[in-house]
Amino acid sequence: CGIVGYVGAKPAAPILVDGLARLEYRGYDSAGVAVLGPNEIRLHRDAVRVRELEASLPKRFGGRTGIGHTRWATHGVPSQRNAHPQLGAGGRVAVVHNGIIDNAAQLRAELLADGVTLSSDTDTEVLAHLIERSDEPTLENAVLAALDRIEGTYGLAVLDQAHPDRIVVARNGSPIILGIGDREMHVASDTAALVRYTKQVVHLDDGELATLKADGYQTFTRDARTTKTAVTVDWDTS
Ligand code: GLU
Repeated sequence: CGIVGYVGAKPAAPILVDGLARLEYRGYDSAGVAVLGPNEIRLHRDAVRVRELEASLPKRFGGRTGIGHTRWATHGVPSQRNAHPQLGAGGRVAVVHNGIIDNAAQLRAELLADGVTLSSDTDTEVLAHLIERSDEPTLENAVLAALDRIEGTYGLAVLDQAHPDRIVVARNGSPIILGIGDREMHVASDTAALVRYTKQVVHLDDGELATLKADGYQTFTRDARTTKTAVTVDWDTS
């Protein structure tokens, strides 16, 4: 339903929670955030309101890169384990996803047959496993390879402990907007979560992906880099 992400020099969790609060008007049944700690991905999620998620954040939840989500369940009841972010089995990759993966049942069966332990009932979880289990050397190629396997719609954002300097995002049928800051990058599924931080935005097109780092962004498709310049968001506050 709602996606936010941050990479920069500030603690990520308060920025992510603030962004999620600004997406609440769209409705949701669960909320969650994940940040890159020094040695592990820190995860906090549940079938609760954003303010309850914030109030219950663990004390040790530092991390300057992170992603967050408000979920409107399509596959699996609203519950803690079905809330996003969804993690790979090794806890190395975290994914937030808007949309529906149509061939999730088949991919879940294949992962189970490969001995992977599934820990939610969501369609989204397969993406985290496919990316984490990929042999591709870059996160971008691992995401592209995973997207090759899935059918359906997505806006998504991916964190990988093995590539801690970046967030990779992708769009197919569900909006993803980059917010360009000063030595920091934001991403969201709705400009409402970005305008407090920046008025410079880049709208991804369907089939487009992006890498966000503190010092810049690169948009691309399966075949080529795309050069997209930021536009100033036309934000009517009335
Ligand atoms: N299909 C996903 C799920 O049920 C994402 C739903 C959403 O867009 O929030 O977990």
